[in-house]
Amino acid sequence: MNDQTPLLTIDQGTTSSRAILFAANGDVLQLEQKELQLYYPHKGWVEQDAEDIWHDTLACCKKILDKAKTHPVAIGITNQRETTVVWEKDTGKPLYNAIVWQDRRTKEVCAALKEDGHEEMVAGKTGLLLDPYFSASKIQWILDNVEGAREKADAGELAFGTIDTFLIWRLTKGKVHVTDITNASRTMLYNIVEQDWDDELLALFNVPRSMLPEVKDNVAHFADTDDSVFGHVLPIGGVAGDQQAALIGQGCTKPGMIKATYGTGCFALMHIGDQFKVSENRLLTTLAYRIDGKIEYAVEGSIFVAGAAIQWLRDNMGFFSNAAESESLARSVEDSNEVYFVPAFTGLGAPHWNPDARGMITGLTRETTKAHITRAALEAQAYQTLDLVSAMEGDSGYEVNVVRVDGGLVANRFMCQFLSDMLDCDVQVPKNHECTAWGAAVLAGVYAGVFDSLDNAAEQWVCKDLYTPDMDEDVRHKNRDGWDATIAQYS
Ligand code: ADP
Repeated sequence: MNDQTPLLTIDQGTTSSRAILFAANGDVLQLEQKELQLYYPHKGWVEQDAEDIWHDTLACCKKILDKAKTHPVAIGITNQRETTVVWEKDTGKPLYNAIVWQDRRTKEVCAALKEDGHEEMVAGKTGLLLDPYFSASKIQWILDNVEGAREKADAGELAFGTIDTFLIWRLTKGKVHVTDITNASRTMLYNIVEQDWDDELLALFNVPRSMLPEVKDNVAHFADTDDSVFGHVLPIGGVAGDQQAALIGQGCTKPGMIKATYGTGCFALMHIGDQFKVSENRLLTTLAYRIDGKIEYAVEGSIFVAGAAIQWLRDNMGFFSNAAESESLARSVEDSNEVYFVPAFTGLGAPHWNPDARGMITGLTRETTKAHITRAALEAQAYQTLDLVSAMEGDSGYEVNVVRVDGGLVANRFMCQFLSDMLDCDVQVPKNHECTAWGAAVLAGVYAGVFDSLDNAAEQWVCKDLYTPDMDEDVRHKNRDGWDATIAQYS
């Protein structure tokens, strides 16, 4: 391994487009970022301008390449998953804005399919639950609602892509239409057992096969950039959706390993090995990665509101002016005094799945102060994770001994310790906090021969902070009973 070999990652997220130049030891050499505008044309609709995504990404890459001393050996791409773009093959022009993963406009379509009894078939093939979140119903919406789209699609003139695919199309000047298997696995059109686009699913959502990209392993020669784009050709050697990239960046390459990313929401993935299994606990089964044709699966659960609860206490309640102050406030009291805070502002995700649930604070007394409520909001992160991890253990049969965490909220040491206490396992925070972008760099690095394998890259994973359980068994049980009783009020 040559530490000087730079790897370029494109990290196209929901709120920003970024490019990062990494050294092979994970050090960030350069970083460029542009905030991305979100549009909310109607209640529940969320869109982005695909041209902005492209121009911002290109600008970030160019800035880095202009300054870089050495050309990167390969590009890795990681992206917000499920977000859907449909464009004309001829002109490369998008027919409609990118429909973002958060968009709920196809809620009724998905509910009707569920009502008609299709969910079992869909879950058996894709590992997913029938929900607007995934790309299939978004593609269908574009074809049925943009004038002339259906005719063009039937004539084979349109292409669909998640953001990775759209960026590669643009980086190659329309020569290459590809995706990786993790992004494909989130479209709800890809059969993750047979590993191919699925005719029954294509018929269910009325999407022609001619629109779909070729699906590759996560490490592959996806394409060479067109030389007019950067002034020289660069190979794109690794692609993965953001949560899978974080799993790789966190070095979770062995079955039973878990990563949890705590940002606005929290996304947790557990590596479950090479056997597909439909969750019995309403988690999603998804692809972890496929390398040299060898597939690995993961179970995934998301908590819709994680750090956003802290933002809410700051911005809506005025409890503090800076998220970091939540820690000293939480520590200023001995416990939450039996206050529980369920931050279900936008419904409850896995394993509860209650879209109509709303937030709740229970156990208020005359003694309750904002310190108790803040502490309860931080403790809720651990309780929600505990529910997820218990479901993951139930599905996979693995006992969890360690959870690797990242994201803005892990700066809060109180939260991390409480998480360790409630999960009764180690919680590890890595030195490299750019886990998602680093995961894509690792894939590109394996392609370019910088690393022999994902395991080889994972050996470099360094723990910055380790939290070990330090709570009496009966306190842990009492806390959990209190949370369980609170959550039970939703059922
Ligand atoms: P995203 O990538 O979703 O934008 P980040 O990973 O940047 O999110 O994390 C930001 C979130 O973390 C915010 O919701 C913020 O409230 C929360 N946060 C950041 N620092 C702290 C802290 N020290 N204590 C508690 N919450 C924090």
